[in-house]
Amino acid sequence: MLTLDQARQRILDAVTVCPVVEVSLASARGLVLAEAAIADEPIPNFAHAGAEGYAVRAEDITDASPDDPDYLTVIGTARPGAATALVVQPGEAVRVYTGASLPDGANAIVKLEFARPAGPDMVEVDHAVPRGQYVKPVGNDVASGTVVLPAEMPLTAAAIGMLAAMGRNRVKVHRRPRIAVLSTGDELVRPGEKRKDGQIYDTNSEALAAQIAEAGGELASSVLVRDTAPALRSALMELPPCEAVVCSGGVSVGDFDYVRDVVGQLGDVEFDQVAMRPGGPFAFGTLDGRLFYGLPGSPVGSYAAFELLVRPAVRKMLGFSRVLRPEVCATLDERLTHTRGRREYMRAQTVFGPEGAVVRVIGDHDNAIMSSMALANSLVVVPEDTAELPAGSTVRVLWLSEL
Ligand code: AMP
Ligand code: MG
Repeated sequence: MLTLDQARQRILDAVTVCPVVEVSLASARGLVLAEAAIADEPIPNFAHAGAEGYAVRAEDITDASPDDPDYLTVIGTARPGAATALVVQPGEAVRVYTGASLPDGANAIVKLEFARPAGPDMVEVDHAVPRGQYVKPVGNDVASGTVVLPAEMPLTAAAIGMLAAMGRNRVKVHRRPRIAVLSTGDELVRPGEKRKDGQIYDTNSEALAAQIAEAGGELASSVLVRDTAPALRSALMELPPCEAVVCSGGVSVGDFDYVRDVVGQLGDVEFDQVAMRPGGPFAFGTLDGRLFYGLPGSPVGSYAAFELLVRPAVRKMLGFSRVLRPEVCATLDERLTHTRGRREYMRAQTVFGPEGAVVRVIGDHDNAIMSSMALANSLVVVPEDTAELPAGSTVRVLWLSEL
């Protein structure tokens, strides 16, 4: 049986980055830049006032003090949004607002606290300022030709703001991978529909759709599949255009045969067990150029298997170089015991306090219990060879929450 790390590596090795597309800035958040963004002009491209006040020649007011102020002639006003033709000569100043272009001749801004009107067209300055004070020179933020954002940079809100500052409204990124969801089980009905005795609401389709969206993928389709080989076969043969299929249920021992048979007939099953809990009955294969992920039907197993094995592949397809969710160190509040052999992920709540992170395991280890999974913001990582984690010890915690 593969370890989690081996299984993840096998999957990542089989996955390629999605093709490059151009998208609008408005739909680029969370995607990864496919080529470096290089400034083709300086930012800002004109020198401007970084504060409201008077644009002056610093050398005109070197002796100004509250006891012995200097007086300058105000030759006009410069506001943001237009170039100014005003030129500051010795003994002159221009009233400026933040963002206005700096009049020629001026080399500093005197803020209003050091300057006050002294009759029509005169200003009294009671403080010297250094050259360049509150002046934003050309290229203050970015010089022309600079690599502002490297290729493979994730497009955060700030990165999108930077692209906007460069005047871009479209950007080259890796396309979102399209993922089809199949949920197998004769017992399943969609939430919101009428349920008969013995039926349960389909948890996994909705959770997986949300996980795909959180990972940055695009849901290609979502269908319920009856527990027969022909039903699964036709569902797999009728898939819409997509790069991957996530199929929940039918992979546990005894049940697995029909999924393996069908996937094996249409493609290849690479492995079907991973030494981890929850999520261990997990199959991976390829089908007609698509990736096939067979997840356990139990809602916690399905959720965990997606997070630990499918999500990293989705991140790689999007072009991320860091594909795993962050792991942090936290202090364990209660002793934990563990049966050696498999990597275990225990549902937990981690809180970040002034003393650092503290983690508390919630719920039990039953994979049918979704309520504790829903309340968990993290998973305690229990290594394969660990039998016990004492209270107060430092443990690794996988951080799940995006909200
Ligand atoms: P399976 O892996 O198909 O043997 O399913 C294991 C357990 O998970 C069974 O109790 C199923 O009823 C349950 N299960 C399977 N699929 C789903 C689903 N989509 N939503 C909720 N429970 C499910
Ligand atoms: Mg089933």
